[in-house]
Amino acid sequence: MDPVHKAIGLSHSGWRGTVGKIGAVTVKKMQEEFGTDPKDILAAIGPSICQDCYEVSEDVILMFREAFEEKYWSQLFYGKENGKYQLNLWEVNHIIFREAGIPEGNISMPNICTCCNPEFLFSHRASHGMRGNLAAFLGIK
Ligand SMILES: [Zn+2]
Repeated sequence: MDPVHKAIGLSHSGWRGTVGKIGAVTVKKMQEEFGTDPKDILAAIGPSICQDCYEVSEDVILMFREAFEEKYWSQLFYGKENGKYQLNLWEVNHIIFREAGIPEGNISMPNICTCCNPEFLFSHRASHGMRGNLAAFLGIK
């Protein structure tokens, strides 16, 4: 949200959107469309899967290694004995927002995992492939 221009932007960021830095694309679009200064943006990362729940294969990690500087890697993922990795999408998006110029204090982290809370949020992983949906709505009062 850009309180100066009374403008909002919302994007979905699964692993493909995250590796493509959709958060930064959204900030850039707000700059173009509304004249938003990233320093004014109040950003929030919505409920989504946490690192403990999010196991990915090496091909996904290779894309993240390409898209993000090595100094971030230890914050973003770790490898396990089974050859898989645990990926921290919350932290990746946090870094994307910071690199896009949003001040640290303006970024709210979710701390609500969809997979850890299947009783009130839908998670594709928690439901083992049973289809369902999550929707996000954003408006200006
Ligand atoms: Zn979780």
